[in-house]
Amino acid sequence: MEKLTWKCPKCGYTFESEAGQAPPETCAGCKESCQFVNVTCYTPDCGFQGQDPRLGKPGS
Ligand SMILES: [Zn+2]
Repeated sequence: MEKLTWKCPKCGYTFESEAGQAPPETCAGCKESCQFVNVTCYTPDCGFQGQDPRLGKPGS
């Protein structure tokens, strides 16, 4: 099963979920409601390390 990597833009907390599973509305890191950003690595040039470091940066 493909995994998706999500990141909280507020505190930087990341976690993985199964593909097709929506992220929770409340962050487990900062305990606040937040909109998780999908930072799953999709492109070969990011190394497929699970998370694309170029994604999920505040202000981008
Ligand atoms: Zn958070």
